Amino acid sequence: MEEKELGIVVQKFGGSSVANVARIRNVAGIVAETRKKGKDVVVVVSAMGDTTDHLVELAHEISSLPPRREMDMLLSTGEQVSSALLAMAIMEQGQPAISLTGQQVGIITDSMHTKAKIVDIDQDRIKSELGKGNIVVVAGFQGVNGQNDITTLGRGGSDTTAVAVAAALGAELCEIYTDVDGVYTADPRCVVNARKLDEITYDEMLELASMGAGVLQPRSVECAKLNGVDLCVLSSFNRVEGTYVREGLKMEKKVVVRGVAKDENVAKIAIMKVPDTPGVAFKVFDSLSQEGINVDMIIQSVNSDNFNDILFTINKDDLNRARRILEKIVLEIGAKGVIDDADVAKISIVGAGVASTPGVAAQMFGALAESNINIQAISTSELKISCLVARSAIYRAMQAVHDKFALSNEGDHEVVIR
Ligand code: ADP
Ligand code: ASP
Ligand code: MG
Repeated sequence: MEEKELGIVVQKFGGSSVANVARIRNVAGIVAETRKKGKDVVVVVSAMGDTTDHLVELAHEISSLPPRREMDMLLSTGEQVSSALLAMAIMEQGQPAISLTGQQVGIITDSMHTKAKIVDIDQDRIKSELGKGNIVVVAGFQGVNGQNDITTLGRGGSDTTAVAVAAALGAELCEIYTDVDGVYTADPRCVVNARKLDEITYDEMLELASMGAGVLQPRSVECAKLNGVDLCVLSSFNRVEGTYVREGLKMEKKVVVRGVAKDENVAKIAIMKVPDTPGVAFKVFDSLSQEGINVDMIIQSVNSDNFNDILFTINKDDLNRARRILEKIVLEIGAKGVIDDADVAKISIVGAGVASTPGVAAQMFGALAESNINIQAISTSELKISCLVARSAIYRAMQAVHDKFALSNEGDHEVVIR
């Protein structure tokens, strides 16, 4: 990353912040206000409201498995619309502005259509537009690959565009404006007494986001950490202090559990009676990874008759493709069959002290048991513990676990690590 050039602020506005004309005007006001404070402003914008969802539905009406290159052509249009409208609205406020697509900005990605990764951003065009006094409005979520084909960065990808642009420009701050006041101890739409956090470390935010807290795309947090970009999550509706994501300032204070997240976009797959021989697991998971399908929780049951059952979870969006791949693999490896279940959800607790504090897992399992919620699979890492439960139980599970760790009470769950 290059030296921080004081004065550039990147402001990203999510779909709900630009859902209609009144909201676009509201965003133009926030941007113009920042410009008037003497900042160079680069805006990154998502598609209006539920545009992307509607485009996805449309594609699925035409095809059960739409080619991913064509999905990218389709989905990228949403951000082109909102960026142009926002640039017009900013100009209406008397500030010069220009909208640019990912391609015009020079956002170069790899070729993994619908989940592409940014490999380079050419700063020249943005810098030259800023030099002319323009506010630059970048269409989020999109780039182009080496063949100049349009790619998109995965759902929620405008967050990653914003952070990557902030990193490339050495911006002083990347503000992520959304429809909640900041990052909470749990999704405030699911847990009534969730509490807004003043700050959170990159690692904890990355884990919360990866576990389903959709307020930030996980890759945006990864990119922010890697490049030292200071992030702030705040509301475009309610102008109050947001949540800062950065390396912990209260270095001596670490929390055991920072927050709870849920992920309903999960499907469970079980491969039954897999021969217990070397290389079989490799074959299954390698074939999935070659198709870009990420596998999450993995359980291999211990059987005595030279057969194992392998259970794992994937993103629900990948289920159709996984079925096709696994039907073939099951025959090749001589397993009995494969079954799947999309009526599951994952609940996770996240915090720097989760792994190092004894009894945390037991407390989480206890909260679920007291609510009579069955745990179907468990996975842990240094910063999190996740349990797979029935989808119908996920809201009860969130509230029970949030209450168990008293996350609505500031300080109650904090311990001093000496
Ligand atoms: P945008 O369109 O602005 O990108 P998103 O819908 O992607 O907005 O993200 C904001 C949403 O994230 C909130 O409305 C909230 O329901 C959800 N969310 C999930 N977990 C959390 C959390 N821990 N803190 C705040 N919001 C959360
Ligand atoms: N419009 C895209 C989506 O809905 C990207 C984004 O909003 O960040 O996923
Ligand atoms: Mg989002």
